[in-house]
Amino acid sequence: MWAITGEPLALPLTVGAGVLVDVDHSPDLWWNLALRREPVAVYLLHSWEWLAGLMVVGVLTGSPWWLSAVVVGFGLHLLTDHLFNHGGRWSYSLIYRASKGFRMAKLAPGWEVDQTYEVLRKEVPVAVMLIEWWRRRSPSPVRSAAPNRRHQTDVDD
Ligand SMILES: [Zn+2]
Repeated sequence: MWAITGEPLALPLTVGAGVLVDVDHSPDLWWNLALRREPVAVYLLHSWEWLAGLMVVGVLTGSPWWLSAVVVGFGLHLLTDHLFNHGGRWSYSLIYRASKGFRMAKLAPGWEVDQTYEVLRKEVPVAVMLIEWWRRRSPSPVRSAAPNRRHQTDVDD
């Protein structure tokens, strides 16, 4: 990117844009694992629509170097995710996910909360520490993610 744009900062910006996309996993994981709600797949930034929008802005503004760097970093991230994560054809469309109510059960029926938790434990242990801390301080979830845990109901005497 440096060679193409002639701007040394283009390289770190490309890499940064490519890496920071995954920040959007955080709210979904918090919802799914810490709050133990019905799993969702919002992944706000993982969306071809944003890339298309950025490219339109690039065309309209004469493609400034920093925007080109963001488009390349962001685009490569989406492309590699799409190719290697084995999602559905439309899984990286925000509009498609919205049409399914962002519900994981409809978007990725084989998705398992326990498997995700184990991956997170290995790759981002500090996130699991935060989730565990939150679970300890809020012992009465509205809805449990664990399938074999009975749902508590209020009983009138
Ligand atoms: Zn990603």
